[in-house]
Formats: sequence, C-alpha cells, structure tokens
Amino acid sequence: MEITFHGAAQTVTGSQHLVQVNGHKFLLDCGLFQGARQETYYRNQHFLYEARSVDTLVLSHAHTDHAGNIPNLVKNGFSGPIVTTPASRELSNYMILDSARIQESDAEFVNKRKAKHNGPPIEPLYNTRDAEAALKLFSSEPYNRPFEVIPGVTAQFYEAGHILGSAITVLDIEERGQKVRLAFSGDLGRKGMPILRDPTFIADVDYLIMESTYGDRLHKSPDEAHTRLRQVMLSAVERGGKVIIPSFAVGRAQELIYSLHLLMDNGDIPHLPVYLDSPLAVHISTVFRAHRELFDTGALSFARTSGNADIFNFPELTYVGSVDESKAINDKKGPMVIISASGMAETGRVLHHLRNNIGNPRTTVLIVSWQAPNTLGRRLVENEPTVRIFGEEHAVKASVEVINGYSAHADQAGLSEWALALKGRLKKVFLVHGEPDPANTLAAKLREGGLTDVYYPKLHESVTL
Ligand SMILES: [Zn+2]
Ligand SMILES: [Zn+2]
Repeated sequence: MEITFHGAAQTVTGSQHLVQVNGHKFLLDCGLFQGARQETYYRNQHFLYEARSVDTLVLSHAHTDHAGNIPNLVKNGFSGPIVTTPASRELSNYMILDSARIQESDAEFVNKRKAKHNGPPIEPLYNTRDAEAALKLFSSEPYNRPFEVIPGVTAQFYEAGHILGSAITVLDIEERGQKVRLAFSGDLGRKGMPILRDPTFIADVDYLIMESTYGDRLHKSPDEAHTRLRQVMLSAVERGGKVIIPSFAVGRAQELIYSLHLLMDNGDIPHLPVYLDSPLAVHISTVFRAHRELFDTGALSFARTSGNADIFNFPELTYVGSVDESKAINDKKGPMVIISASGMAETGRVLHHLRNNIGNPRTTVLIVSWQAPNTLGRRLVENEPTVRIFGEEHAVKASVEVINGYSAHADQAGLSEWALALKGRLKKVFLVHGEPDPANTLAAKLREGGLTDVYYPKLHESVTL
C-alpha cells in the first residue's frame, strides 16, 4: 500500500491523501488549498495524478478545506462514488454550490483587472455546472457501519465531533493476504462542545493519519466561552447598541444561536432580537434541524425541558433571507444581535453591518473565531484605529470583544489523549493538517507519551506501508 500526501501536508488546508492498494486508488478528502490567490489557483487547479484513475473518494466532512476541490476533480475526469455521512452529504449540497459561486466571482474579479492590462482571462477553478455534476456522485454511509471502498478495503465512519456529520474514517485493508488497519482522523473535534457529541475513541489501529492544527495550544473551555458570551451580551445591552458577530455559516452560527437561546431561556440575559443574516447559514441551520440524532445529550435535554423542540428557533430570532430584509435591519435600533458571514469579515453581508455601525461607540463587534492575517477581522482584533471597508476609511469607535474557546478542533491535550489511546498496536503516526510549529510540538508530545514513530510528511511525498 502506498499513501501520497497531496494536500494539508505541512500546512492546514487542502486536505487530500491518495491511497493505492491492490491496483486500485482511493482518495481521502479533496479540499481546497487556501492562501494568496495566485499560488492557490495554480495549486488547486492541477492534480499530480490522473483524476480519472481514482476509483473512490471518501470524504471526512463538508468543510471547504476538505471538500472544496471535488468539483475540479470531477471536471478533470473523476467519476467514481463520493462517500460521506448523510449529514455531510446534505451540508456539501449547499457548501459546494456556494464555493462554485465564489470561484466564479473570484475569476470575474481577476479578469476585470487583467482586462485593464490586456492580460488573458482565467477560467474559474470550477463553475456551478461542475459543482452540480460532482454532487450527483455523492452517496452516504451512516456512522458505525462498514462499507466497501475498493476491492479489499472496507471503511467505517465514527463520530469526529468537529462539525455536523464529521467523521473519523477507519479502513480495514487486505493486500496479498496481509491485513492492516489505517485510520484517518479528519478534523478532530472537542469534548463538551455545544450541540455535537464528543469525538469517538477508536481502537486497534496500525497506522494513523492525524490532524495537528492546534498541536501547540490549549483552548479555553466551551463553558468559559459561554460565560464570556453572557458578559459581552450584558454590557452590550447596557450600552444599547448592536452586537455584530462575523461568523462562519457552518457550525459557529448554529452554536451561537443555541447559546443565545440557552442564555435567554435561563434568564441569564434579557430577551433581545437576534438576526441570522446569512443565506448560507440559514440553509445550514435546516440541515442541523434535520439531524437531531447527531445532537449531544445537553442539546436533546434542552429541547425536551424547554418546551421548544427546535433549539435553533426562539421568538426573538429572525432568519434573514432577502437583501431587502437585511437592509431593513439598518433602520432598527439596538440592543440586538446580528450574526452574519463571512467569519473573517472579508466578504458578505457582515461588511454592510460593520460599515454602518463601526463608527458608533454603542456598537460591539464580537469575534468568535481565529482571524487570518490581513483580514478585516484580524485588523479589528488588533484594535487598529481605522479600517477600510468597501474602499473607504472608517474610524473604529465600536468596542471589539474576542471570545476564544469556540474552536471546533481538539487542542494539544485532546489530540494527544486521542492518539495515545491507540498505543500498543499503533506502529506509526503521520501528522497532517498543521503548520510546522504545532505539528512538531505535538510530535514531541506523542513521542514523550510513548508513540515513538511520528512523521510529518512533505507535500506530495509518498510512503509505502
Ligand atoms: Zn474542518
Ligand atoms: Zn480542516
């Protein structure tokens, strides 16, 4: 068997691992590499193997850095099944089409600039039609039930606790009479997160491909995040302004809604209007609602005892659809909460809310996720006195609050506890989905714990097992 690490190797994004066994090939994930536009375009466009020669794609979860390059794979000739969990499949329906629209508008933007210098236009990485063709290849398998990937390879999904439908994949591989068990963590979640169940501890694994995003960090607990949210809301209510939360549409937005629902229901904060102003987040919430079987006991018991079976709905909450409805929020007076995408305030409706309110000292901007360098979100976290929005300078008079503790990834303690539980049979760990510092720190931690063979493969490197 040979594994080639074609993405998320010595970096976080672009998850893509090719496994060759018994004369067949399957892929674990096919994500988008995300970074500076020029570099990402070329890297995402080209596969270093024949896309049509891959038999099956096994998808760990619906995040763009894991699923976002699938339409391009299909455009390049892949026509096999794409297997994932039922919830991941439904989330992918929305996310992959949304990603296609982003690819189309990105290419349009680049081409406008190129036209000014008579440069040749570029093609979008893929378009809506490619995305629709890819979605036709999706099929689903539930957690905890074996299915065939290619001849001689059976897989089983386990709850990864990272986003709705996220899976750890355990593969039983038989080659020339030899049996090997290979596991792929996908992105590993955390214990005690709202809504989702905890990640599964798997067993009896020979080889492990594991993420290492936060291999050098310890997170604040989800309970602390909840307490901080309450404090931020109380002081915002006192000032009477709007609370604007740039949020990812998948997962974070639903967690926030659930947490605000809990706080109001318990009388911890006053009842105030909440707007979810992101069409994608509105769609994603319907997928969450349809998958109560994936909720943890906390969410299920809240649904039972609060007399409100739908944890993503309460009288003060408005799901905002049309642009006109979004604009109408502008004329309303605070206090109120506006949850809107994008998560790093780079695009989307949140920019309009920020432009209209950032100069008002009553406003609170609440940051609830990691912000990449050079994004508007990052500038706000760094307390820059003025920021550019839609090409205009705006003085930041709003108060900017940050809550760390909402991460959907296991931290160093979570990752090492999970991997060290495999000690004994486990021969080798391949660390992926992490920058060098976190990965090397985690590797040292694992070695210290008794997993001596930990390897950090380079991009496109192959290993034979
Ligand atoms: Zn993820
Ligand atoms: Zn990821």
